[in-house]
Amino acid sequence: MSLPIMGVPDKKRKKLTVYTIEECINCKKPTKREFKDGDLVHKILDKCKDCDNNIMISLIYGEEIKKN
Ligand SMILES: [Zn+2]
Repeated sequence: MSLPIMGVPDKKRKKLTVYTIEECINCKKPTKREFKDGDLVHKILDKCKDCDNNIMISLIYGEEIKKN
């Protein structure tokens, strides 16, 4: 049995899909979509259709792709 060492790449690296969560700064309605080039946390996007406030990227994260 071997222990994992920090900094050494894992040969069985899992594939990740990156998602972006957009959220209206006023009504806090989150929208999840796939990450696009240029997305940054706290980047201001379009206006909210409901309240006309700014929609901001609140979170960018990776999700594991599960293989069957
Ligand atoms: Zn809104």
